[in-house]
Amino acid sequence: MALGLPSVLPGGSQPSIGDLIAGPAPTFSFEFFPPKTAEGQPLLWQAIRELEPLRPSFVSITYGAGGTTRDTTVAVTERVATETTLLPMAHLTAVNHSVAELRHVIGRLAGVGVRNVLAVRGDPPGDPMGEWVRHPEGVLYAADLVRLLKESGDFCVGVAAFPYKHPRSPDIASDTDRFIEKCRAGADFAITQMFFDADDYLRLRDRVAAAGCDTPIVPGVMPVVRMATIERSEQLSGAPFPPALLERFERVSGDADAVRRLGIEQCSEMCARLLDEGVPGIHFITLNRSTATREVWQNLPAGARV
Ligand code: FAD
Repeated sequence: MALGLPSVLPGGSQPSIGDLIAGPAPTFSFEFFPPKTAEGQPLLWQAIRELEPLRPSFVSITYGAGGTTRDTTVAVTERVATETTLLPMAHLTAVNHSVAELRHVIGRLAGVGVRNVLAVRGDPPGDPMGEWVRHPEGVLYAADLVRLLKESGDFCVGVAAFPYKHPRSPDIASDTDRFIEKCRAGADFAITQMFFDADDYLRLRDRVAAAGCDTPIVPGVMPVVRMATIERSEQLSGAPFPPALLERFERVSGDADAVRRLGIEQCSEMCARLLDEGVPGIHFITLNRSTATREVWQNLPAGARV
Protein backbone atom coordinates (compact mmCIF):
# COMPACT_ATOMS: atom_id res chain seq x y z
CA MET A 1 0.00 0.00 0.00
CA ALA A 2 1.22 3.51 -0.74
CA LEU A 3 1.78 4.74 2.79
CA GLY A 4 2.00 8.08 4.47
CA LEU A 5 1.29 10.06 1.34
CA PRO A 6 0.04 13.52 2.07
CA SER A 7 -3.42 14.22 0.67
CA VAL A 8 -2.04 17.53 -0.57
CA LEU A 9 1.43 17.98 -2.00
CA PRO A 10 3.55 21.03 -1.23
CA GLY A 11 2.23 23.76 -3.48
CA GLY A 12 -1.36 22.68 -2.87
CA SER A 13 -1.92 20.06 -5.58
CA GLN A 14 -3.07 16.53 -4.76
CA PRO A 15 -1.05 13.48 -5.84
CA SER A 16 -2.10 11.82 -9.07
CA ILE A 17 -3.85 8.49 -8.44
CA GLY A 18 -2.52 7.38 -11.82
CA ASP A 19 1.02 7.80 -10.47
CA LEU A 20 0.17 5.86 -7.30
CA ILE A 21 -1.36 3.03 -9.34
CA ALA A 22 1.66 2.93 -11.64
CA GLY A 23 3.96 2.70 -8.58
CA PRO A 24 5.66 -0.46 -7.35
CA ALA A 25 3.22 -1.36 -4.53
CA PRO A 26 -0.46 -2.19 -5.08
CA THR A 27 -2.86 0.56 -4.09
CA PHE A 28 -5.82 -0.05 -1.80
CA SER A 29 -8.86 2.15 -2.14
CA PHE A 30 -12.39 2.40 -0.83
CA GLU A 31 -15.53 3.56 -2.62
CA PHE A 32 -18.36 5.43 -0.88
CA PHE A 33 -21.61 6.89 -2.12
CA PRO A 34 -23.03 10.28 -1.11
CA PRO A 35 -26.15 9.66 0.99
CA LYS A 36 -29.46 10.84 -0.43
CA THR A 37 -30.83 11.71 3.02
CA ALA A 38 -29.52 13.52 6.09
CA GLU A 39 -29.84 10.25 8.05
CA GLY A 40 -27.32 8.58 5.72
CA GLN A 41 -24.60 11.14 6.52
CA PRO A 42 -23.52 9.75 9.94
CA LEU A 43 -23.25 6.24 8.46
CA LEU A 44 -21.00 7.50 5.65
CA TRP A 45 -18.76 9.45 8.00
CA GLN A 46 -18.57 6.60 10.48
CA ALA A 47 -17.42 4.28 7.66
CA ILE A 48 -14.89 6.87 6.44
CA ARG A 49 -13.50 7.38 9.95
CA GLU A 50 -13.30 3.64 10.62
CA LEU A 51 -11.46 2.97 7.36
CA GLU A 52 -9.13 5.98 7.57
CA PRO A 53 -6.66 4.23 9.95
CA LEU A 54 -6.06 1.58 7.25
CA ARG A 55 -4.40 4.42 5.30
CA PRO A 56 -5.86 3.62 1.89
CA SER A 57 -4.09 5.04 -1.13
CA PHE A 58 -7.28 6.92 -2.05
CA VAL A 59 -11.04 6.88 -1.58
CA SER A 60 -13.68 7.52 -4.21
CA ILE A 61 -17.08 9.18 -4.03
CA THR A 62 -19.70 8.08 -6.56
CA TYR A 63 -22.00 10.34 -8.55
CA GLY A 64 -25.70 9.49 -8.13
CA ALA A 65 -27.57 7.80 -10.97
CA GLY A 66 -28.89 10.34 -13.44
CA GLY A 67 -26.59 13.03 -12.05
CA THR A 68 -28.73 13.20 -8.90
CA THR A 69 -25.96 13.88 -6.40
CA ARG A 70 -24.04 16.56 -8.23
CA ASP A 71 -23.86 18.83 -5.17
CA THR A 72 -23.36 16.13 -2.53
CA THR A 73 -20.62 14.38 -4.53
CA VAL A 74 -18.68 17.63 -4.70
CA ALA A 75 -19.43 18.44 -1.03
CA VAL A 76 -18.39 15.00 0.30
CA THR A 77 -15.27 14.98 -1.89
CA GLU A 78 -14.32 18.44 -0.61
CA ARG A 79 -14.91 17.41 3.02
CA VAL A 80 -12.74 14.31 2.58
CA ALA A 81 -10.00 16.53 1.10
CA THR A 82 -10.13 19.13 3.84
CA GLU A 83 -11.14 17.22 7.00
CA THR A 84 -9.40 13.85 6.66
CA THR A 85 -5.96 12.54 5.77
CA LEU A 86 -7.47 10.73 2.77
CA LEU A 87 -6.90 11.42 -0.90
CA PRO A 88 -10.32 11.71 -2.59
CA MET A 89 -11.39 10.94 -6.14
CA ALA A 90 -14.75 12.20 -7.40
CA HIS A 91 -16.82 10.19 -9.88
CA LEU A 92 -18.45 12.24 -12.64
CA THR A 93 -21.16 11.14 -15.06
CA ALA A 94 -22.58 12.62 -18.26
CA VAL A 95 -26.28 11.87 -17.66
CA ASN A 96 -28.62 14.87 -17.91
CA HIS A 97 -25.76 17.36 -18.05
CA SER A 98 -24.89 19.86 -20.76
CA VAL A 99 -21.22 20.45 -21.45
CA ALA A 100 -21.58 23.82 -19.69
CA GLU A 101 -22.90 22.06 -16.56
CA LEU A 102 -20.14 19.47 -16.73
CA ARG A 103 -17.56 22.25 -16.98
CA HIS A 104 -19.17 23.89 -13.96
CA VAL A 105 -18.86 20.68 -11.87
CA ILE A 106 -15.29 20.19 -13.08
CA GLY A 107 -14.53 23.79 -12.08
CA ARG A 108 -15.99 23.24 -8.62
CA LEU A 109 -13.88 20.12 -8.15
CA ALA A 110 -10.76 21.98 -9.25
CA GLY A 111 -11.76 24.84 -6.94
CA VAL A 112 -11.62 22.57 -3.89
CA GLY A 113 -8.29 21.12 -4.99
CA VAL A 114 -9.61 17.80 -6.36
CA ARG A 115 -7.42 16.55 -9.14
CA ASN A 116 -8.51 12.92 -9.53
CA VAL A 117 -11.78 12.11 -11.29
CA LEU A 118 -13.38 8.84 -12.45
CA ALA A 119 -15.14 9.63 -15.73
CA VAL A 120 -18.12 7.32 -16.30
CA ARG A 121 -21.02 7.80 -18.65
CA GLY A 122 -23.65 6.94 -16.00
CA ASP A 123 -26.95 5.14 -16.42
CA PRO A 124 -30.38 6.68 -16.97
CA PRO A 125 -32.24 7.23 -13.69
CA GLY A 126 -34.74 4.47 -12.87
CA ASP A 127 -33.99 1.66 -15.31
CA PRO A 128 -30.21 1.35 -15.86
CA MET A 129 -30.87 -0.43 -19.17
CA GLY A 130 -33.43 2.16 -20.29
CA GLU A 131 -32.76 4.32 -23.33
CA TRP A 132 -29.68 6.50 -22.83
CA VAL A 133 -30.76 9.94 -23.99
CA ARG A 134 -27.96 12.38 -24.58
CA HIS A 135 -28.53 15.87 -23.19
CA PRO A 136 -29.05 18.09 -26.27
CA GLU A 137 -25.88 20.00 -25.36
CA GLY A 138 -24.14 17.14 -23.60
CA VAL A 139 -21.73 14.32 -24.43
CA LEU A 140 -22.48 10.75 -25.47
CA TYR A 141 -19.74 8.49 -24.13
CA ALA A 142 -17.27 8.31 -21.25
CA ALA A 143 -14.43 8.92 -23.74
CA ASP A 144 -15.91 12.41 -24.37
CA LEU A 145 -15.86 13.08 -20.61
CA VAL A 146 -12.23 11.99 -20.44
CA ARG A 147 -11.35 14.48 -23.18
CA LEU A 148 -13.36 17.24 -21.48
CA LEU A 149 -11.54 16.69 -18.19
CA LYS A 150 -8.14 16.52 -19.83
CA GLU A 151 -8.67 19.76 -21.73
CA SER A 152 -10.02 21.44 -18.56
CA GLY A 153 -6.87 21.18 -16.47
CA ASP A 154 -4.27 18.97 -14.85
CA PHE A 155 -6.68 16.14 -14.02
CA CYS A 156 -5.76 12.52 -13.50
CA VAL A 157 -8.66 10.57 -15.01
CA GLY A 158 -9.87 7.03 -14.43
CA VAL A 159 -12.49 5.10 -16.41
CA ALA A 160 -14.68 2.03 -15.90
CA ALA A 161 -13.87 -1.46 -17.18
CA PHE A 162 -16.16 -4.47 -17.36
CA PRO A 163 -14.82 -8.02 -16.91
CA TYR A 164 -18.03 -9.48 -18.35
CA LYS A 165 -18.37 -6.67 -20.98
CA HIS A 166 -20.70 -3.73 -20.53
CA PRO A 167 -24.34 -4.91 -20.70
CA ARG A 168 -24.96 -2.61 -23.69
CA SER A 169 -21.97 -3.89 -25.67
CA PRO A 170 -22.88 -6.43 -28.37
CA ASP A 171 -19.82 -8.61 -27.75
CA ILE A 172 -16.51 -8.85 -25.89
CA ALA A 173 -14.43 -7.77 -28.92
CA SER A 174 -16.28 -4.47 -29.45
CA ASP A 175 -16.37 -3.86 -25.69
CA THR A 176 -12.58 -4.22 -25.61
CA ASP A 177 -12.19 -1.83 -28.58
CA ARG A 178 -14.40 0.79 -26.90
CA PHE A 179 -12.53 0.42 -23.63
CA ILE A 180 -9.22 0.99 -25.41
CA GLU A 181 -10.67 4.08 -27.12
CA LYS A 182 -11.35 5.52 -23.64
CA CYS A 183 -7.77 4.82 -22.62
CA ARG A 184 -6.46 6.44 -25.80
CA ALA A 185 -8.69 9.47 -25.10
CA GLY A 186 -6.40 10.06 -22.12
CA ALA A 187 -7.48 7.81 -19.23
CA ASP A 188 -4.65 7.20 -16.78
CA PHE A 189 -6.13 4.06 -15.22
CA ALA A 190 -9.32 2.01 -15.00
CA ILE A 191 -11.35 0.41 -12.23
CA THR A 192 -13.52 -2.61 -12.94
CA GLN A 193 -17.11 -3.36 -12.18
CA MET A 194 -17.39 -5.94 -9.38
CA PHE A 195 -16.81 -9.61 -10.24
CA PHE A 196 -16.62 -12.81 -8.19
CA ASP A 197 -14.06 -14.92 -10.02
CA ALA A 198 -10.44 -13.74 -10.39
CA ASP A 199 -10.21 -15.42 -13.81
CA ASP A 200 -12.86 -13.07 -15.18
CA TYR A 201 -10.67 -10.09 -14.26
CA LEU A 202 -7.55 -11.80 -15.64
CA ARG A 203 -9.25 -12.50 -18.98
CA LEU A 204 -10.13 -8.79 -19.27
CA ARG A 205 -6.57 -7.77 -18.41
CA ASP A 206 -5.15 -10.23 -20.94
CA ARG A 207 -7.39 -9.20 -23.83
CA VAL A 208 -6.71 -5.50 -23.24
CA ALA A 209 -2.95 -6.17 -23.08
CA ALA A 210 -3.14 -8.37 -26.20
CA ALA A 211 -4.71 -5.43 -28.04
CA GLY A 212 -1.65 -3.33 -27.18
CA CYS A 213 -3.11 -1.24 -24.35
CA ASP A 214 -1.14 -0.96 -21.10
CA THR A 215 -3.48 1.24 -19.07
CA PRO A 216 -3.49 -0.24 -15.54
CA ILE A 217 -6.81 -1.87 -14.60
CA VAL A 218 -7.60 -1.99 -10.89
CA PRO A 219 -10.06 -4.73 -9.85
CA GLY A 220 -13.18 -3.53 -8.04
CA VAL A 221 -14.39 -5.98 -5.39
CA MET A 222 -17.30 -6.30 -2.99
CA PRO A 223 -17.73 -9.17 -0.53
CA VAL A 224 -21.08 -10.96 -0.45
CA VAL A 225 -22.47 -10.41 3.05
CA ARG A 226 -26.02 -11.63 2.49
CA MET A 227 -27.88 -13.70 -0.10
CA ALA A 228 -29.55 -10.53 -1.41
CA THR A 229 -26.14 -9.35 -2.73
CA ILE A 230 -26.08 -12.43 -4.96
CA GLU A 231 -29.61 -11.83 -6.12
CA ARG A 232 -28.67 -8.27 -7.14
CA SER A 233 -25.25 -9.20 -8.50
CA GLU A 234 -26.40 -9.90 -12.05
CA GLN A 235 -27.80 -6.38 -12.27
CA LEU A 236 -24.72 -4.93 -10.55
CA SER A 237 -21.99 -6.87 -12.35
CA GLY A 238 -23.73 -7.51 -15.66
CA ALA A 239 -23.26 -11.30 -15.41
CA PRO A 240 -24.82 -14.24 -13.63
CA PHE A 241 -23.17 -15.10 -10.29
CA PRO A 242 -20.63 -17.92 -10.90
CA PRO A 243 -22.66 -21.17 -10.58
CA ALA A 244 -20.06 -23.15 -8.57
CA LEU A 245 -19.78 -20.34 -6.05
CA LEU A 246 -23.55 -19.95 -5.95
CA GLU A 247 -23.82 -23.60 -4.91
CA ARG A 248 -21.47 -22.97 -1.97
CA PHE A 249 -23.59 -20.03 -0.83
CA GLU A 250 -26.84 -21.94 -1.32
CA ARG A 251 -25.59 -24.71 0.96
CA VAL A 252 -25.45 -22.21 3.87
CA SER A 253 -28.22 -19.86 2.76
CA GLY A 254 -30.34 -20.54 5.87
CA ASP A 255 -27.60 -19.26 8.19
CA ALA A 256 -26.95 -15.52 7.83
CA ASP A 257 -23.64 -15.67 9.77
CA ALA A 258 -22.36 -18.54 7.63
CA VAL A 259 -23.25 -16.63 4.44
CA ARG A 260 -21.32 -13.63 5.69
CA ARG A 261 -18.32 -15.74 6.74
CA LEU A 262 -18.23 -17.43 3.33
CA GLY A 263 -18.50 -14.04 1.57
CA ILE A 264 -15.55 -12.63 3.52
CA GLU A 265 -13.52 -15.81 2.94
CA GLN A 266 -14.26 -15.90 -0.80
CA CYS A 267 -13.46 -12.22 -1.30
CA SER A 268 -10.24 -12.51 0.77
CA GLU A 269 -9.09 -15.53 -1.26
CA MET A 270 -9.90 -13.76 -4.51
CA CYS A 271 -7.96 -10.65 -3.45
CA ALA A 272 -4.95 -12.78 -2.42
CA ARG A 273 -4.98 -14.45 -5.86
CA LEU A 274 -5.30 -11.08 -7.61
CA LEU A 275 -2.32 -9.74 -5.64
CA ASP A 276 -0.34 -12.85 -6.58
CA GLU A 277 -1.19 -12.11 -10.20
CA GLY A 278 0.35 -8.64 -9.81
CA VAL A 279 -2.75 -6.43 -9.94
CA PRO A 280 -1.94 -2.71 -9.67
CA GLY A 281 -4.33 -2.28 -6.73
CA ILE A 282 -7.62 -3.34 -5.20
CA HIS A 283 -10.67 -1.07 -5.02
CA PHE A 284 -13.25 -2.01 -2.38
CA ILE A 285 -16.90 -1.08 -2.92
CA THR A 286 -17.93 -0.41 0.70
CA LEU A 287 -21.61 0.62 0.38
CA ASN A 288 -20.74 3.01 3.24
CA ARG A 289 -20.09 0.15 5.70
CA SER A 290 -16.65 -0.50 7.05
CA THR A 291 -16.79 -3.90 8.76
CA ALA A 292 -16.75 -6.31 5.80
CA THR A 293 -14.08 -4.27 4.00
CA ARG A 294 -11.91 -4.21 7.13
CA GLU A 295 -12.28 -7.96 7.58
CA VAL A 296 -11.20 -8.69 4.00
CA TRP A 297 -8.35 -6.21 4.31
CA GLN A 298 -7.16 -7.86 7.55
CA ASN A 299 -7.13 -11.24 5.80
CA LEU A 300 -4.84 -10.05 3.00
CA PRO A 301 -1.27 -11.30 3.05
CA ALA A 302 0.62 -9.10 5.56
CA GLY A 303 3.21 -8.14 2.94
CA ALA A 304 0.51 -6.76 0.69
CA ARG A 305 -0.94 -4.36 3.27
CA VAL A 306 2.29 -3.11 4.82
P1 FAD B 1 -18.93 4.15 -21.87
O1 FAD B 1 -17.48 3.87 -21.83
O2 FAD B 1 -19.37 5.39 -22.56
O3 FAD B 1 -19.65 2.88 -22.54
C1 FAD B 1 -21.05 2.72 -22.51
C2 FAD B 1 -21.44 1.78 -23.66
O4 FAD B 1 -21.25 2.46 -24.90
C3 FAD B 1 -20.57 0.51 -23.75
O5 FAD B 1 -21.37 -0.54 -24.21
C4 FAD B 1 -19.52 0.88 -24.78
O6 FAD B 1 -18.97 -0.25 -25.43
C5 FAD B 1 -20.35 1.73 -25.73
N1 FAD B 1 -19.54 2.71 -26.48
C6 FAD B 1 -18.55 3.49 -25.99
N2 FAD B 1 -18.06 4.29 -26.96
C7 FAD B 1 -18.78 4.02 -28.09
C8 FAD B 1 -18.76 4.52 -29.44
N3 FAD B 1 -17.90 5.47 -29.80
N4 FAD B 1 -19.65 4.01 -30.31
C9 FAD B 1 -20.53 3.05 -29.94
N5 FAD B 1 -20.59 2.52 -28.70
C10 FAD B 1 -19.73 3.01 -27.78
N6 FAD B 1 -22.54 5.12 -12.51
C11 FAD B 1 -23.01 6.25 -11.91
O7 FAD B 1 -24.12 6.71 -12.21
N7 FAD B 1 -22.27 6.91 -10.96
C12 FAD B 1 -21.05 6.46 -10.58
O8 FAD B 1 -20.40 7.07 -9.71
C13 FAD B 1 -20.53 5.27 -11.18
N8 FAD B 1 -19.32 4.79 -10.86
C14 FAD B 1 -18.84 3.66 -11.46
C15 FAD B 1 -17.58 3.16 -11.09
C16 FAD B 1 -17.06 2.03 -11.69
C17 FAD B 1 -15.70 1.52 -11.27
C18 FAD B 1 -17.83 1.33 -12.67
C19 FAD B 1 -17.29 0.08 -13.28
C20 FAD B 1 -19.07 1.80 -13.04
C21 FAD B 1 -19.59 2.97 -12.44
N9 FAD B 1 -20.84 3.49 -12.77
C22 FAD B 1 -21.33 4.62 -12.17
C23 FAD B 1 -21.70 2.78 -13.76
C24 FAD B 1 -21.49 3.32 -15.19
O9 FAD B 1 -21.84 4.67 -15.26
C25 FAD B 1 -22.38 2.50 -16.10
O10 FAD B 1 -21.98 1.15 -16.12
C26 FAD B 1 -22.50 3.02 -17.52
O11 FAD B 1 -23.56 2.31 -18.16
C27 FAD B 1 -21.27 2.81 -18.38
O12 FAD B 1 -20.35 3.72 -18.12
P2 FAD B 1 -18.98 3.77 -18.97
O13 FAD B 1 -18.25 4.89 -18.40
O14 FAD B 1 -18.35 2.46 -19.07
O15 FAD B 1 -19.59 4.17 -20.43
